[in-house]
Amino acid sequence: MRIPIIAGNWKMNNTISESIDLVEKIKSRNLNNMVEVVVAVPFTSLYEIKKHLEGTSIKLAAQNMHWEDKGAFTGEISPLMLKEIGVDYCIIGHSERRQYFNETDETVNMKIKSALKHNIKPIVCIGETLKEREENIQEDIVKNQIIKAFEGIDKIYIKDIVIAYEPIWAIGTGKTATSEEANKMCGFIRNVIGNMYDEELKNNIRIQYGGSVKPNNIKELMEKEEIDGALVGGASLIAEDFIDIVNY
Ligand code: PEP
Repeated sequence: MRIPIIAGNWKMNNTISESIDLVEKIKSRNLNNMVEVVVAVPFTSLYEIKKHLEGTSIKLAAQNMHWEDKGAFTGEISPLMLKEIGVDYCIIGHSERRQYFNETDETVNMKIKSALKHNIKPIVCIGETLKEREENIQEDIVKNQIIKAFEGIDKIYIKDIVIAYEPIWAIGTGKTATSEEANKMCGFIRNVIGNMYDEELKNNIRIQYGGSVKPNNIKELMEKEEIDGALVGGASLIAEDFIDIVNY
């Protein structure tokens, strides 16, 4: 059985005090205990938020990391630093990082390997642009991203990886893929994993949908067979909305 996973990606929002405020609001409410709930907070808030999550089942995620343990990489954060804080997950290869910070399939692959080495579970983001969907090459694009992201990753680690299918045209735009489109692509991704590894991993890997998920569309998405959760941006910044999404 795949346990649904819903993660809030706060992106570059919330100072430490604002982060505490938001997480206190989220944890003050009863949350769906059938769902694994994750908050991906800015680096500066991770340490404080870890303390505020103690005694709850909410998991903590970083939004990025470097692949090296240490070194002359000014401004970067290493997996060792995240591990000491007690981070559970790390988002890797978000489209905003690919678009604005030149992240490539190769760096995504190095980051996934490094996260796994340090027992940080990667949430690996993949997805096509609007142009690619209009050209009807979305499956080739996504397949290629997966093959490159997972290159050299042993099957024993696959159970620790979550894939977030996020069509770029649906992120922060208010446009959601229809639940059918999202389901179809998540099924396609599952088949790619099946072909690369085996039937068991194909059936066990968790695949989230991300792109303008809101309280009013989560239920329909979660009803779909291939969709195991959501990566939520904008709506995760509003406590009530995030709670409603988790409690779909
Ligand atoms: C995201 O940040 O991954 C995302 C899907 O954002 P939004 O929900 O705002 O579209």
